Amino acid sequence: MSLEEKVALVTGASQGIGRAIAIALAKQGASVALAARNESKLTEVKSEIEAADGTAATFALDVASEDSIKAGAKAAIAHFGKVDILVNNAGITKDTLALRMKLADFEAVLRTNLTGSFLLTQAVISSMMKARWGRIINITSVVGETGAAGQANYAASKAGMIGLTKSLAREFASRGITVNAVAPGFIQTAMTDVLTDEQKSGILTQIPLARYGSDTDIAAAVAFLASDDAGYITGHTLDVNGGMYMG
Ligand code: NAP
Repeated sequence: MSLEEKVALVTGASQGIGRAIAIALAKQGASVALAARNESKLTEVKSEIEAADGTAATFALDVASEDSIKAGAKAAIAHFGKVDILVNNAGITKDTLALRMKLADFEAVLRTNLTGSFLLTQAVISSMMKARWGRIINITSVVGETGAAGQANYAASKAGMIGLTKSLAREFASRGITVNAVAPGFIQTAMTDVLTDEQKSGILTQIPLARYGSDTDIAAAVAFLASDDAGYITGHTLDVNGGMYMG
């Protein structure tokens, strides 16, 4: 297993893509710090990982709160001794047309998706610098590359994550730390369940591979970027979208 001896911190690990990422990294031998707000859902994922002989621990934290991020990262490092791999996956949407969008909803999405990723990176980076090895993987979105009507806040946050990824890749490269992004297309999770059947079938017509993505499609890309095999890749955004957008 390629991630034996490594510790991964995954945000939004309580369900959907983050849960699949946590399970995939644990399968590769990493010990996984599972982070999100819903402790009971995290505990279910922990049990699932342990049932497959993996190692995991839960850390209830809110990525919209700097204090919570600091406390959660500190607790994870105290528990496992370090963090080698950070996956900034926690994310929210608050969709509406720009003309109607409230400032609070614009800022909440930026705060959770973009600022949270930045603050969590700050909170764990010294652990990676000490080890002179690290992986930061930011889960952005196809929408951060294309834009989307009704998603000005979400698309701005996800485009921001791509700029953040490239800047951090430059800053930390000399320390043996790579920073990459994964940009999912349409993945079947609770986040996309809210779309109408008409919206979903409209999206399907734009996917050359003619199927929606699954959480494991994204997890496989993350597991690769976390591995030593991906050691010469940094500042990259990996599209996992069935051909929906070819950058
Ligand atoms: P999801 O099922 O809604 O899961 C979102 C996760 O983020 C949950 O585990 C949630 O846990 C966590 N989260 C939300 N706000 C948080 C906060 N303030 N603090 C800590 N954790 C928080 O969504 P998903 O589809 O798996 O999405 C995961 C990531 O992929 C997101 O960044 C999303 O933007 C991105 N993405 C998804 C798609 C898609 O088609 N599904 C496409 C492109 C990109 P708690 O509620 O327990 O905190």
